[in-house]
Amino acid sequence: MRTNGIMMQYFEWFLPNEGNLWNRLKEDAGHLKEIGVTSVWIPPCYKGTDSNDVGYGAYDLYDLGEFDQKGTVRTKYGTKQELHDCIQALHDNGIAVYADVVLNHKGGGDELQTFWVVEVDPHDRNKAITEPYEIEGFTRFTFPGRNKKYSDFEWSWEHFSATDYNYRDDKDAIYIIQGDNKGIEVDDRSVGQQYANFDFLMFTDVDYKHPDVQEETKKWISWFIHETGVDGLRLDAIKHINDWFVKDFIDHVRGEFAGDFYVVGEYSFYDGMDIELYLHNVEHKIDLFDVALHYNFKQCGMDGPGFDMRKIFGSSIVSAYPELAVTYVDNHDSHRLQGEPYVPEWFKPLAYALILLRKDGYPCIFLGDYYGIGGDNPQPGMQWMIDQLLDVRRDFSYGEQDDYFDHEHVVGWVRRGDEHHPDGCVVIMSNSEGGVKPMSVGTDYAGTSWYDKLGHVQEDVIIGDDGRGWFHVGDGSVSVYLKRV
Ligand code: CA
Repeated sequence: MRTNGIMMQYFEWFLPNEGNLWNRLKEDAGHLKEIGVTSVWIPPCYKGTDSNDVGYGAYDLYDLGEFDQKGTVRTKYGTKQELHDCIQALHDNGIAVYADVVLNHKGGGDELQTFWVVEVDPHDRNKAITEPYEIEGFTRFTFPGRNKKYSDFEWSWEHFSATDYNYRDDKDAIYIIQGDNKGIEVDDRSVGQQYANFDFLMFTDVDYKHPDVQEETKKWISWFIHETGVDGLRLDAIKHINDWFVKDFIDHVRGEFAGDFYVVGEYSFYDGMDIELYLHNVEHKIDLFDVALHYNFKQCGMDGPGFDMRKIFGSSIVSAYPELAVTYVDNHDSHRLQGEPYVPEWFKPLAYALILLRKDGYPCIFLGDYYGIGGDNPQPGMQWMIDQLLDVRRDFSYGEQDDYFDHEHVVGWVRRGDEHHPDGCVVIMSNSEGGVKPMSVGTDYAGTSWYDKLGHVQEDVIIGDDGRGWFHVGDGSVSVYLKRV
C-alpha cells in the first residue's frame, strides 16, 4: 500500500445487468484519482453461470467476456475489450487494479457425468449419512464456446471433491465425491473447521489435491495476469481452500511477477476461528479483510449506547496484525437482502472515520456506501461524507497518533502531523449522548482555532496555553477538527 492508500470496492450485488460497469469505472477513473483512491477491487471479470451472475458462480475463467457461452458474450459488467479499456484508464490515472479470483468452486457445468459419492451431514461434514452410490452431476466442463483457445484443459468429476446436486433424482445435498485420493478426510486442518470440515461451500468444489488441478490453476493465473495487467488479487472464500495451496499459489504468482505482488484474502469467520493459525500456515503472505472489525461496527450500530466504544477494535485484525489488515465498513455481501449483517446507517460516518483517519490498516471504501445501492431495496450513498473524510486522510491524517479511548461512549484521537503535513487533525465520536473531551495538539498551537470539517459542531475550539482544546461532539455523531488557516 502507498502512504495513506485507499482501496475502493467498485461493485455491489444489485448493480443492473447492463454490461456497463467497465465503461462506468473507466469514466470515473479521473474522479477516483482526485478523491485519493489508489487501488480498485473489481468484481470477478470472467464468465459466470449467466449474464446476471455477480461473478461468484464462476464458469470459465478464460472467458473475460469474449466468447458466446452461457447465453452471452459479455459478463454482467461488459466485454473483454471494455475490461481492457477500463484497466488502461485506471492505470493512466495511477490507480492499481485488484482482480477478484474465485478458485473454490465452479458452476454451470456443460455435461452430466456419473460418479460415486457419499452424502454427508451438513452440520458434520466428516459424517457420511449414506453408503456410497452413483449420482449424475454437471461436473464436465468443456467450454464449447471457447473451443480450447488459451487452454485445452477440460474438467471432469475427478477434479472436484464435492458437488451440490444429483440430476438423477433432482436432489440437493452435499455429495462428497469418492475415488483415488478422495472422499471424507477426517482431521483436514487446512480448511475451515466449522461443520468439522468447511471445504465445500457451494456449486462444485474444486479438488486442489489433484496435481492436474494445481498445474492448470497456476497456468491460468499466469495467463490471466499477463492478459489483463492487473496489479493485485482478491482471493475469494479462502477458508474453503486448502491453505497449503493458497500459499503455493501466492508463491507462484510472486515468483513469476513481483515479490510484492499484492494479495488480499476473504476469510470470513465466526467466533473461535483461528486467524492466527491461518496466517501462520500461509506464512503471513496475505492481507486479510478485517471481518472482526466489520462485526464490531455492526454490533455497535445495533446496540447503540449499549456498546462500549473502548472495545471497538477488540479482536480485530488491524489491532493484532496492522500490516496485514484491510479495514472496511460494509461490502457486497453485507446487505439486508443478502442475509449477512450490515452496519446501520447512523454508525457509518463513525465507522468510516475509524478506518480512514487512523494510522493502521489499508482502508477499503465500498461503492454501495459511496454511490448507493440499487435493486428492489435501494439505499442512498454517502458520497459527501466520505469525500470529507477522504480529504482529511489525503491532507491531514499523518504522523503520531494519540488515543483517547478513555470513556465508554465518547472517544477520540489526535494525529500530530508529519514534516509535510504539520497540522494533523483531531477526531471525536460518540455512540450515545454527545460530549466534550480535552485533547492535546501541542503547545505550539496555543491560541489557534480549530473547526469541524464535517460541520456538525458550529463553534470553533480555541487551543489553550497547555496545548489542549475542549473538543465537542453531538449525539451519535463524529466530528473531525482541522486548524483554521
Ligand atoms: Ca473447497
